[in-house]
Amino acid sequence: MSNTIISVKNLTKQYQAEQSGGVKDVSFEITRGDVVAIIGESGSGKSTLLKSIYGLLKSDSGDVFFDDKRVLGPDEQLIPGHKQMKMVTQDFSLNTYAKVYDNIASQLSNTDLKTKAEKTLAIMEHLRILPLQNKKIIELSGGEQQRVAIARAMVSDTQVLLMDEPFSQVDALLKNQLRADIKRVAAETGVTVILVSHDPADGLFLADQMIILRNGELLQTGKPTEIYQQPKHIYTAQILGNAVVLSRGDAEKLGIKTFAASVVFYPEWAEINSSWNSRRFEVKDVYYKGFYDELLLERNGVSVRALQLNRGEHKKNDYVQLNISRFLEF
Ligand code: ADP
Ligand code: MG
Repeated sequence: MSNTIISVKNLTKQYQAEQSGGVKDVSFEITRGDVVAIIGESGSGKSTLLKSIYGLLKSDSGDVFFDDKRVLGPDEQLIPGHKQMKMVTQDFSLNTYAKVYDNIASQLSNTDLKTKAEKTLAIMEHLRILPLQNKKIIELSGGEQQRVAIARAMVSDTQVLLMDEPFSQVDALLKNQLRADIKRVAAETGVTVILVSHDPADGLFLADQMIILRNGELLQTGKPTEIYQQPKHIYTAQILGNAVVLSRGDAEKLGIKTFAASVVFYPEWAEINSSWNSRRFEVKDVYYKGFYDELLLERNGVSVRALQLNRGEHKKNDYVQLNISRFLEF
């Protein structure tokens, strides 16, 4: 078996009504066992791409391959969807009045009852829901229900778990827990996870591979750190790190010499210090960000943002020295 489990080749799926929706000429590969995050704004084509990978949508052109075999479309088989993949949707599709154990075990056949019980208990253990096995779904919290939905999707020798916006219904604390769960379960079981999210933090926190979609087009794919450090498009730097974008003219007003049309940097690349090459900026505003502040700074009519790790050190109307140590040119 090769290391690549899924490859998407020149996939195009447009919806008749508007020629804009869907995905356009998207190609990428997914390594077995990786957690992959497809990140894009609402309407960028994430769900279309996920459904196409699973075989729920007929593509206009291009193909998806699972272990080098073409994934069949909904018109090519009786029950749409690839057998070794499972999709967990936001509504979980659980039997709410049945017990947790039965919701999961029902996915397995009765030909071997011992194996059925063993597999059900094993996956419940991976998802840390063993103590819930005799509870009914309606007695569970949203986060617990999501774990049951994942266990149910994974119990039947699933190789690829597809998740559409898995964290959109949960609060911030639980979100971090579920992210950690998914990462751990993928590492423990070797399942490949493909999740889509509009929140770039999901990709940055837990993905081995991140895919950035905009208007149905793949802008960039790679490891989160590579994409963050070397974005190929200004857009990517803006959605991942709220980057500061300056025109050449504005950059020159700050003493940054460039031949590029735009200069882009993340706020953390601007250091507040007083080295020989730093410049004086006025603090226009201070935004509280938890364990650090973000400063809105201005010099010669040009605004930039920088981090202040020593919270409260500089206040509105103060002057600070800023050294933009690193920037990208576009
Ligand atoms: P996302 O999941 O990133 O929000 P979708 O893949 O659901 O995006 O949709 C991408 C675009 O395709 C959107 O502009 C949406 O309106 C359009 N679209 C999605 N499904 C359909 C459909 N069944 N018919 C027509 N247009 C659709
Ligand atoms: Mg969607």
